[in-house]
Amino acid sequence: MPVGTRGAVKAITHRDLEELGAEIILGNTYHLFLRPGADLIARAGGLHRFIGWTRPILTDSGGYQVFSLATMRKVREEGAEFRSHLDGALHLLTPEAATDIQAQLGSDIAMVLDECIATPATLDTAREAMQRSLRWAARARERFRRLQDDPGQIAVTNPGQAQFGIVQGGTFPELRTESVHGTVAIGFDAYAIGGLSVGEPPPVMYDVVAHTAPLLPDDSPRYLMGTGMPDDLFECVARGIDMFDCVLPTRNARNGQFLTNAGLLSIKNARFAEDQSPPDPGCSCYTCRTFSRAYLRHLYMVGEMTAATLNSLHNLHFYLDTMRRIREALVFGTFEKLRLEFHQTFSRRPRI
Ligand SMILES: [Zn+2]
Repeated sequence: MPVGTRGAVKAITHRDLEELGAEIILGNTYHLFLRPGADLIARAGGLHRFIGWTRPILTDSGGYQVFSLATMRKVREEGAEFRSHLDGALHLLTPEAATDIQAQLGSDIAMVLDECIATPATLDTAREAMQRSLRWAARARERFRRLQDDPGQIAVTNPGQAQFGIVQGGTFPELRTESVHGTVAIGFDAYAIGGLSVGEPPPVMYDVVAHTAPLLPDDSPRYLMGTGMPDDLFECVARGIDMFDCVLPTRNARNGQFLTNAGLLSIKNARFAEDQSPPDPGCSCYTCRTFSRAYLRHLYMVGEMTAATLNSLHNLHFYLDTMRRIREALVFGTFEKLRLEFHQTFSRRPRI
């Protein structure tokens, strides 16, 4: 899922996204709640109509952003109190409020509010947050069901909305197991694994995914939140993950970094000043079909806005195409071959 934080995937039009074959995008509840506000979006008929995107949308609960505020928030059993990063106004994000806001936005998939913790965390801290997340999940589910029966004062703009639960528990297998059992017992439409890709080394993340994913029901999608590098997609699919989101392809594009079949390519590098080859010779995207490294470097160096657009087009194509190739390989039983080939050519180390 490309990330459209504030109702737009940065530097990219919806038409571009459709042409890239993006089937779903992610919207950030925290940002949309603060600006332009959930009431305004509900009055516009919901997020799809407001932003002019007809394909599915997943919204997060807003929790991750609130917990990233560090000094500006306070967690208690009722919810997370925080000050807006915009004007310092005090807000209380409860499991019920996160459910209501997402009902107003009318995304196709809503996420429950969970407690995110800093890593590395002690076993006690991780257990406490995981158990609170379970209590919050039960409250969010109850609210969600009540809204379906009787919306009351809330404008529910998408009656077909699904709600996903989130498994927490840090890097502790026993906590992950407890979290899976508790979350599945509440009963959600599908399940996500949260609390990873927060600074732990990739092998640790892979181990937690390998432990957790097989415990989740296999008749609904499993979503790994906030991951990651292209090689992480292969490794986590191999361990049972179906859905991903990450700002990496678009954020890195704006910083001049291309993710290519051979690894990372920094377009600002002086050696590309007169390089007439495309950024990724093996790529069929509009940017690679049309423009040279020399031109893209020039656009980036002079700060042209088009640089962000063209770089993002390539990186999003690369991610979406990688996932398409993975799905195809799974159907044809050639996933292991593709995984091996990918690791032989892709490198996390920047190319000099
Ligand atoms: Zn390309």
